[in-house]
Amino acid sequence: MEKTLGIIKPDAVAAHHSGNIIAMIEKNGFTIVRMQKMHLSKKQAEQFYAVHKERPFFGEMTSFISSGPVIVMVLEKNDAIKAWRDLMGATDPKKAAPHTIRAHYAIDIGKNAVHGSDAPETAAEEIAFFFPDLK
Ligand code: UDP
Ligand code: MG
Repeated sequence: MEKTLGIIKPDAVAAHHSGNIIAMIEKNGFTIVRMQKMHLSKKQAEQFYAVHKERPFFGEMTSFISSGPVIVMVLEKNDAIKAWRDLMGATDPKKAAPHTIRAHYAIDIGKNAVHGSDAPETAAEEIAFFFPDLK
């Protein structure tokens, strides 16, 4: 079993899509190992997204992710990292496959409803960032 980090972003929490997104997660066979609603500070957002600090939209993305409450989850399943990214859909919702979370709930390429780790190393780092007690 593999673990990955998922986040329901402020746009989807504010629009009351969390319940539907969690239902999609469970329907797709993930176990929710941890789940915590929290409001990130701008500083925490900058730490979390540090790998993106050279990208032109870094300021925007860190302001957005710290703009309201998020729901942070550790998701477990066989091949969870890829399975969660498949369920999320493409970063740009215009390119996301129809059955995906982003196709249903994302507003645009920035306010795109969910986050998911992209590799085993980043999954381990991101899980430890929010849940340092989880081995
Ligand atoms: N993002 C953005 N503009 C872009 C590309 C990405 O605002 O042109 C934001 C968006 O919220 C995205 C996040 O930066 O989810 C991280 O980008 P990444 O390329 O890692 O996409 P993801 O892994 O979330 O699909
Ligand atoms: Mg990414």
